[in-house]
Amino acid sequence: MSQLQVNDLHVDFGGLKAVDGLNFSVGEGEILCLLGPNGAGKSTTLDLICGKTQPTGGSIRFEGTEISQLLEFRRARLGIGRKFQVPSVYKELTVAENLSVARSRRPGMLHALTRFALSDGRAAVPILERIGLEAKANEVAGNLSHGETQWLEIAMLIAQDSRLILMDEPTAGMTVEETGRTAEIFRSLSESHTLIVVEHDMSFVRTVADRIVVMNRGTLLAEGSIEEIETNEDVKSAYLGH
Ligand code: ADP
Ligand code: MG
Repeated sequence: MSQLQVNDLHVDFGGLKAVDGLNFSVGEGEILCLLGPNGAGKSTTLDLICGKTQPTGGSIRFEGTEISQLLEFRRARLGIGRKFQVPSVYKELTVAENLSVARSRRPGMLHALTRFALSDGRAAVPILERIGLEAKANEVAGNLSHGETQWLEIAMLIAQDSRLILMDEPTAGMTVEETGRTAEIFRSLSESHTLIVVEHDMSFVRTVADRIVVMNRGTLLAEGSIEEIETNEDVKSAYLGH
């Protein structure tokens, strides 16, 4: 069964149909790359899934629960995490302390205990190892490079128990090395997490995507493997603006 199912999703912005009858689904552990020309509705789709924007019609089911009418914090508690383009790390706190803050956002009653356990940095180590920041646990986040800051944000989403992680242009501004490292992190993360990634860097998409959904004018234009997408005539003409 799919982890996330989007059915006939709609949102209007004062008459502009930014998302107009969108259908797609994502399986657990899948990396789905969301492509499409500027203005296609990709960022709005992520907003609709995480609850930053409320849809005007349609349904979004996450692990069997209808979530399209839930507030953003409730969806976060169910396990949907959104990484925004502007990082939301606490620059004056250390890397481990940032994870501690993220951990305390988890649902449940053990907040105080987990915060205590993480405050010495040891409980943060397994998550930091997964994203290669273990040597930076006691570094102040404000001293991290651009790429490291992005990875810390992903670590914070893992720490707050997100199982579905939404990312909008995660490699923007990264060096070639950072982009390569990000692809490795994504592949490893997909062993336990589902990712929906809006991305323009096609060589990155080629490395990480299990499946691709192409949007145009708020609807699904095509879906499939990278080979299927690259040879699709509708996709070619959408990018040429026909
Ligand atoms: P993409 O991420 O694919 O480039 P967006 O989802 O950002 O596209 O935008 C889709 C369309 O919706 C665009 O025409 C954009 O101008 C419009 N749009 C996005 N957000 C808003 C908003 N909050 N208010 C009005 N129009 C918006
Ligand atoms: Mg966008």
